Amino acid sequence: MTSNHREVLNMHKATEFRLEARPQLPEALHRLGELANDLFYSWNHGVRGLFARIDLRLWQKVEHNPKLFLRRVSQHRLEEAAADRAFLAEYRRVLSSYDAYVEAGPGAEVVELLNPETSLVAYFCAEFGFHESFPIYSGGLGILAGDHCKAASDLGLPFVAVGLLYQQGYFMQTIDAQGQQVARYQCHDSDELPISPVEQDGEQLKISVPFPGRELWARVWQARVGHIRLYLLDANTPENNEQDRELTLQLYGGDSDTRISQEILLGIGGTRALAALGIKPTAWHINEGHAAFQILERCRMAMEHGLSFEAALESVAACTLFTTHTPVPAGHDIFPRDLVAHALGPYTETAGLDFDRVFELGAKNGDGTFNMTSLGLRGSRFHNGVSRIHGGVASEMEGSIWPQIPPEENPIGYITNGVHVSTFLAPEWASLFEMQAPTWKSELRNPDFWNFVDRIPDYHYWSVHKALKQQMAEFIVRRLRRQHQRNGTGHSVTERMTRKLVSPEKDAMVIGFARRFATYKRATLIFSDLPRLERLLTDPDNPVVLVFAGKAHPKDNPGQQLIKVIHDLSMQPSLMGHIILLEDYDQAMARRLLSGVDVWLNTPEYPKEASGTSGEKAAMNGALNLSVLDGWWGEGYDGNNGWAIAPRDIRLDQEFRNREEARDLLDLLEMEIIPLYYKREAQGYSKDWVARSKASMKTITPRFNSQRMVMDYVRNYYQPASAQGHRLAANKGELANELAQWKARIRAAWHGVNIQMHGCVTDRCNWDEEVELSVEVALNGLAPEDIRVECVVSPDCTGSHGEPGPDSFILEPAGDQDGKTLFSARIKAPYPGLQTLRLRAYPYHDALTHPLEMGAMLWA
Ligand SMILES: *Cc1c(COP(=O)(O)O)cnc(C)c1O
Repeated sequence: MTSNHREVLNMHKATEFRLEARPQLPEALHRLGELANDLFYSWNHGVRGLFARIDLRLWQKVEHNPKLFLRRVSQHRLEEAAADRAFLAEYRRVLSSYDAYVEAGPGAEVVELLNPETSLVAYFCAEFGFHESFPIYSGGLGILAGDHCKAASDLGLPFVAVGLLYQQGYFMQTIDAQGQQVARYQCHDSDELPISPVEQDGEQLKISVPFPGRELWARVWQARVGHIRLYLLDANTPENNEQDRELTLQLYGGDSDTRISQEILLGIGGTRALAALGIKPTAWHINEGHAAFQILERCRMAMEHGLSFEAALESVAACTLFTTHTPVPAGHDIFPRDLVAHALGPYTETAGLDFDRVFELGAKNGDGTFNMTSLGLRGSRFHNGVSRIHGGVASEMEGSIWPQIPPEENPIGYITNGVHVSTFLAPEWASLFEMQAPTWKSELRNPDFWNFVDRIPDYHYWSVHKALKQQMAEFIVRRLRRQHQRNGTGHSVTERMTRKLVSPEKDAMVIGFARRFATYKRATLIFSDLPRLERLLTDPDNPVVLVFAGKAHPKDNPGQQLIKVIHDLSMQPSLMGHIILLEDYDQAMARRLLSGVDVWLNTPEYPKEASGTSGEKAAMNGALNLSVLDGWWGEGYDGNNGWAIAPRDIRLDQEFRNREEARDLLDLLEMEIIPLYYKREAQGYSKDWVARSKASMKTITPRFNSQRMVMDYVRNYYQPASAQGHRLAANKGELANELAQWKARIRAAWHGVNIQMHGCVTDRCNWDEEVELSVEVALNGLAPEDIRVECVVSPDCTGSHGEPGPDSFILEPAGDQDGKTLFSARIKAPYPGLQTLRLRAYPYHDALTHPLEMGAMLWA
C-alpha cells in the first residue's frame, strides 16, 4: 500500500466513529435494569419474556443478552411498553415473583445443617455456564458449576462462588463449506455482562499476587445469582503490563504458562479477594483441579496466626472438599517442575512457604511433574467423583495418594451430577406441570410426587412434545440457512437438508447428539456400519433424522476431524436431510435441541464419561435416552426409562469394543426404538412411546436435578467439612497442631511398624462359638493407641444372601510380649460357612477426618 493510499484511507476513517445513544428507562420500568443484572433471568422465563415482548427482533439479535438489549432498545419502544397496560401487568407480576424469590429464606433442612449465621460455603471453579449471554464456559463443567450456584440460590444456602472473568470467553464456532471448524473470538465489555464492579472506598476492588519480577493485579467483579454472589477476577487493568492484561482473555486458551498463571490468579487471587471483602467461608469447595492453588494461600493465612505449615495444612484441608471430574489422566493439569518453580516461586517465597514441600503436594508417581489433582486431593480431606462409576474410577486412578489403602476403601466418594430444572425445562412443560401439580417446584427431591406425570393425559403430553419439536425444527432451519448461506451452499440444497425435519405428515423421528467433540465421546460410533444406518434412516415409511452439534477444542485436531466426517456425511446425496450438523453449540441451542428431540444419544467410551448431564436435561423434557451405561446413565437407567448399550470389557481391543457397541446401538434402533416410535395408532402417536417417555421423565427428574445434588453436597460434605474445620481451628488451631505433630511422628516410625499373627488360629468352629484372634505388633516407638488393629471378614460363599460388605472387628491392646504389643479380640463368625479373615493395622487418631486419610496400612 502506498503512503498516499494509506492517508486516503485514514482520512476516510477519521470521518467515521461510533456513538452509542443509550436509552433511558422510563420511571414505570426502572427496575428492568435490576432484572437485567441478576442471573435470575437465566432460569426465569418471565424475566426473559419481558425483554422479548418489548422488541423480539432485537432480543434475538442481541442473543438474549438483557444488558445489551437495554443499551440498544429504542427509547420509543420503551415508552410504548411503559404505556401498555398489559405489559405493565406482566412486568409487575414478574417483579413480584422476583421479589418473593429474593426474600424467601432457606428451608428448615438447610438451616439445620448449615446455619447461615455461622456457616458459609465458598465454591471455586474455572468456568461458570449460566446462560448464553455470559460466555465464560466451555461445556459440561461450566454448566454444572452454573447449575450448582442456581440450586444453592434456590435452597437459600450460605454460599459464594469464585471464578475468572474472561473477556473473550470460549470461542464461537463456525463450520465452513469443507467441514472445517473455524474458531472466532469476540470481546465482551463488562457493560454488556451481568456483572458490577465490587467497590471499596469508592473504587473498584483490586487484589494482587506476586508473579515473576512483578505483581499481577486483578479487578474484582460480582455477579448476582438470586440469593448468592459470584466473584470474578480479571487481569485487564492498567497496573499490569500489556501481556498480563491479556492473561484472562480466553478460557482454556494460550499455553501451559498461561494456564498455570490463570490458575494462580484463580486460586490465590480468588482467596485474596474473599479476604479483602471480609468474607470468611467455613467450607471450601474446589471444583476440579484448576482452583487448587487456593490451598496454599489459605495455609499462608493460617500461618499468620502462628501455625506451622503442616498444622496450617491440617486445618485448611479439614474444611475443604475437592471434586474431580476427569476420568482420563490427560484431562488433568500437569505442569513441569521448572514451570511451577518459575510461575509459583515468587509467591511461595513472599508467602514464606517451602517450595519443595509445596511441590510434594502436587507430585504424582515421582516423575518430576506437578499435578493439580494431586494438590487438590492432598490439600483436602473430603473428595468426590461425579457418578457412582466415576467415583470408582477416580478411586483407582488416584489411589497412589493413599498408597497402602485398597482403592475401594480410599476416601474418594461420589455425588452424581444433576441439572437445574428451571433452566433446562421448556416453559411449555413447566406450564403443564403447573396445571397438573402446582407445587412441583418444591417437590424436586421427592420421587413419589413425580408419579403425577402418569396422570397427564397422553394426548396433552404428546401435544406439548410436538409443539416443542416444531419449535426446534424452526430453529434448526433458521440456523442451517444462516450457516449454509454464508458458506455459499445453494438454496435448493438447504431445502433438501431440512425437508425431512419439517415434513408434518411424516413427523420423522429425531435423534440428537450434541456435546463437546472430544474423541472419547465417539460421536461417529453410529456410523460404524454405514450401509445399515443408511437403510434405517432413509426408510420412506419410518424416516429418521440425526442432528449433531458441538465444538472441538481448537487444539484438538482429532476432535475437529470428527466434525469434518459428520459434515461430509451430511452433504452426501443419499443421506441428505437425514444427518444435520449445526455450528456453534451453546446453552441456547442446548435448550432447543434437548426439549425438541425424540431420542438423545450418547455413546462415550466406558468409563470415560465422568457423569454427563445433557441426557438428564433431555429426560426431563420428555426425550428418551439411548446411551452407553456410563456416568449418570449407569444409575439412571432402570430397564424401562430409555435404552442402554452395555459397554464391553475395557480390557478388550478398542476397535472390537467400538464394533460391538455400535452393533448394539443399531440393533436397538432397528428392533426396538424405531418400531416403537412408529407404532402409531388412530390418535397419530404411539401410546407405548408416550408411556416410556413418561417413565423417563418421572424417574429421572427427581433424581438427577441440581437441588438433589447440592443437598447431597450439604449433607455429605459441606456440613461435615464446616464442623471439622471448626474443630481443628479452635483454640488457635490446637487440634490441627496436635494432629500435624502426631502425623509427623507416625510418618517417621511407620516404616518400622510390623504386624504378625500371634499363635495359631483355628480354621473351623461351630456357628455360635467365639474364636480368639491375636496379633503381635512391633510399634517402633509408637503407642498402642496410635494405631487401630482390625480384623476384616468377607464371605467366601456365594450361597449367602445378597452381598453384605466386609464386617470388621477391632482388636484391643492386650499387653506386651518380647518387646512387641499384643492385640486381641474374641469374635463370632459373621457369616455361615466359609469366610476370609484378614488382619491389618493403620494409624489412628481421633482428630482424623477419615480413618484412612494417612494412606498407611499394614496387613498381617
Ligand atoms: C449440558 C450441557 C453440556 C454438558 O453435556 P454432556 O452431556 O456432559 O456432554 C455441554 N454444553 C452445554 C451447552 C450444555 O447445556
